[in-house]
Amino acid sequence: MNLKEKVKQIKSGKLSALKNVEDFGTAIEQSNKKKMNIFLELNHRAIEQAKEIDDRIKAGDKTGKLAGLCVAVKSNIFVKHLAASCASKVLENYISPYDASVITKLKEEDAIILGMTNMDEFACGSSGESSAFNPTKNPKNPQLIPGGSSSGSAAAVSAGLCDFALGSDTGGSIRNPASHCGVVGFKPSNGAVSRYGLIDLAMSFDQIGPLTSSVEDAELVFNVIKGQDNFDATTQELPVLKEKKNLTIGLVNVKDFCDHEIAGLIKEKTENFAHKNECKIKSVNLPLDIALETYYLLVYVEFFSATRKFDGRRFGLKIEEACGPEVLRRIIGGSEISKAEYHGKYYRNALKARNYIKQQFEKIFQNVDFLILPTVPKLPHKLGETISIEDMYAYDVLTVLANLAGIPAISIPAGEVEGVDVGLQIMAPRFCDYLLLKFAKKFEK
Ligand code: GLN
Repeated sequence: MNLKEKVKQIKSGKLSALKNVEDFGTAIEQSNKKKMNIFLELNHRAIEQAKEIDDRIKAGDKTGKLAGLCVAVKSNIFVKHLAASCASKVLENYISPYDASVITKLKEEDAIILGMTNMDEFACGSSGESSAFNPTKNPKNPQLIPGGSSSGSAAAVSAGLCDFALGSDTGGSIRNPASHCGVVGFKPSNGAVSRYGLIDLAMSFDQIGPLTSSVEDAELVFNVIKGQDNFDATTQELPVLKEKKNLTIGLVNVKDFCDHEIAGLIKEKTENFAHKNECKIKSVNLPLDIALETYYLLVYVEFFSATRKFDGRRFGLKIEEACGPEVLRRIIGGSEISKAEYHGKYYRNALKARNYIKQQFEKIFQNVDFLILPTVPKLPHKLGETISIEDMYAYDVLTVLANLAGIPAISIPAGEVEGVDVGLQIMAPRFCDYLLLKFAKKFEK
């Protein structure tokens, strides 16, 4: 049953919002027994809110588009009265002072916040292992990492512990865990969804987006959270564009950057789709060779700057004293790069590279309507297995370009390689989010 149908059932009284919350509560208890580490905190007002929605339905009052649906929220998004810990000791006891704009919008449509999910500390990571409160396990295979940094949000959807979840994506953190957990993850265009109330990793890259069981569900949630917001000046309404007929798909050449079998599966899926839907395919090269260097350099600098407020005086503990190694690496690295900046050696060059990447996408999208590539270039490693920093960062090579260019990108389940879930990624030009979702729906079928 998709989410629209579930809302209909709730509004018609066939299913109560209360039962919906209680069923997820039971499922979460089971998953806690298995130590899946998916939620960090549950919302104890959820039952009360569900009853209130049921009462309004019984009274024949108007209810919202998401009436009675239960949402799991990444722990770097403000939900008033709940902790926004970023899965860090630094903010362990920090309670959100207000609702993020996306949360306000969800509440206005009568969604119920189930709780806050586990993640990589301050969203720095691709495996979920940098959480200060135990790593999340992958519901598809508890031996493996679920991906990150929105690990708990993807796992919650995958394990059936919520109707949908919110994550944030700076360089792939929605799409990457979606890929490993076999769910849909959508990163909107920069500026399509308000970041007000999101604790930033890197402000010029971050976007909030949905994790769901289907593209249709992602569309439903996106249509609620998107749009211009007075609290975030970078936001705007999206243009409504006409769907084109004879589409051209750009199949990205990932030969030197991706596991052979994963690339093969994505190619096969794309060719089948193109054949059935009479689309043309063009082979396309993206600047993948400069993706990681450009991304990490800029993210280190922006993150260093963003963390200066965690000085131990106003919010939680002093970050350098309480954070884990990955966060510390970025703070020290970001500080060194910033210090060296009067030479104009690093940051300014990375900004130039970012511009170049944007221009490349603009050129490419003159000839193709959508780009298709794998979401993650390799299969997930075993939880707890030590991998090098380079190998950890290499998980991001196929996702960071979308954030650098500010374009929308979605990961949908593509099938399995060696019995492990693999995601297919689709990208579209900036602000073509609606068209991307429509196309992805067709692809999903
Ligand atoms: N893995 C990437 C990083 O560590 C992306 C993180 C994210 O999107 N939040 O920076």
